[in-house]
Amino acid sequence: MTSSQENEDDTLDELLKDKARIVELSDDEDEDDSMAGPPFPGNHLKQPRRKRKSKLQPQPQPQRKVLEIPPWIFDTNELFHNDVKTPSRHALDKTAAECLRFLTLLDTQGLPLNSHGLPHLRRKPHADFLRFFIGPLQTGFTAMDASRPWLFYWCIAGLSFLDQDVSEYKERLIETVRPLQNPAGGFGGGHGQYSHCACTYATVLALTAVGGLEVVDRKTMWQWLGTVKQDDGGFRMAVGAEEDIRGAYCAMTIITLLNLPLELPPDASARKAGLTSFTDKLGGIGGGPSNEVHGAYAFCALACLSILDAPHISIPKYLDIDALARWLASTQTTPEGGFAGRPNKLVDACYSHWVGACFALIEAALPGTKDGLWNKAALVRYLLTCGQQTGPQGGMRDKPSARPDGYHTCYSLSGLSAAQNHYWYDSESSTTDAGSGRLLAAFNWQAKRGTAEELEVLKVDEEDVVALIHPVFVLRLEAVEAARQTFEAGGL
Ligand SMILES: [Zn+2]
Repeated sequence: MTSSQENEDDTLDELLKDKARIVELSDDEDEDDSMAGPPFPGNHLKQPRRKRKSKLQPQPQPQRKVLEIPPWIFDTNELFHNDVKTPSRHALDKTAAECLRFLTLLDTQGLPLNSHGLPHLRRKPHADFLRFFIGPLQTGFTAMDASRPWLFYWCIAGLSFLDQDVSEYKERLIETVRPLQNPAGGFGGGHGQYSHCACTYATVLALTAVGGLEVVDRKTMWQWLGTVKQDDGGFRMAVGAEEDIRGAYCAMTIITLLNLPLELPPDASARKAGLTSFTDKLGGIGGGPSNEVHGAYAFCALACLSILDAPHISIPKYLDIDALARWLASTQTTPEGGFAGRPNKLVDACYSHWVGACFALIEAALPGTKDGLWNKAALVRYLLTCGQQTGPQGGMRDKPSARPDGYHTCYSLSGLSAAQNHYWYDSESSTTDAGSGRLLAAFNWQAKRGTAEELEVLKVDEEDVVALIHPVFVLRLEAVEAARQTFEAGGL
């Protein structure tokens, strides 16, 4: 351990002793280490000192007190924690130390607190932050030129998750994305750029959020998607670009929201390999065959399968759900309570969505599964205490030492919604439209807000609850329903 680390831990100890909110406990558990003084968070960073037993007459014990903090903060589930000082171990410890003062509320960062003592969700500052990024940006943002549709989506969807009216952006968004639409179909990231699945997905979602999908040329979109469908069934992100599960999820989202024909265009090259439909031979949960599994790819795979059919049919057909559920649960970090993209990696708020949103899909694939696959209260606590930017600026951030941005704000809010609300699949509804052939499974989701008792467990007030967000399309449910109705007739 470096001397600077020791200093950090010492400072933390002092803070815990000086400022901890405390509750009284009963007495005489001398043998029990867990009761031998305040179990302070971070004890996995530094072994607590064992109390030496006195051979003298028993002395009156001081009143025992413990910190009023949830158990997962000091109950680490790391199987292999040890003192080997690797760079990644150092980074994990540093991140835990940076978060603990906020998680334990020793430092509330000047944020207004809710009735449970956690910081409120900062609705207005977060909304102001997102609005800023929809406006004209300074020259420092030129590197984002190829990602403009993502900025539109993150900011507009994020605003809608905060219950802000986004219809005011409809005309501006339509006129801004119109030149990004290529004559051969699809949208590029900026002016004059090739069409790309990710940019097209983000554009279509942003347009869905404001009810502006009429600007999309559905016929050329269908033809362009035919050019990225591959002989092995997957989708490339763009013509000549990489092929992975992101492409399949983006393509199936676009096809389903716009109700494009599932049949491949006549000139699609994949027809030469015997494929006739966009849904033929889809597969792969990693970035590609033999690639490592990753939280964001897991979401793309589960969401893609949930578009193709009812999740309790399509997901078990292709995936080992038990193994995947275990893997997903192992990405929730202690003591932070947020998620990492892979086990034993650093917590990062964006995985609140990429992993957190997987659980509704997994639960739908395992009928009878109730809460318990993940710790919702821990995620909420991480996002409210560590994920919110403080001071006059709003926005949400990866972790306290990071700066906020639209991406982390949008996906933190989505993760909050996954933890605070209920989502379930209506297995009685039909999965295909008899008339147009449209895949309907993704439109069969229902949701409701958490009950007062559940909010009590999560330690949030009503005003801290985020909107109901569609678990597959990551938009407000009403926006998805409006898109379903807009293209009910199908055809081109
Ligand atoms: Zn992130």
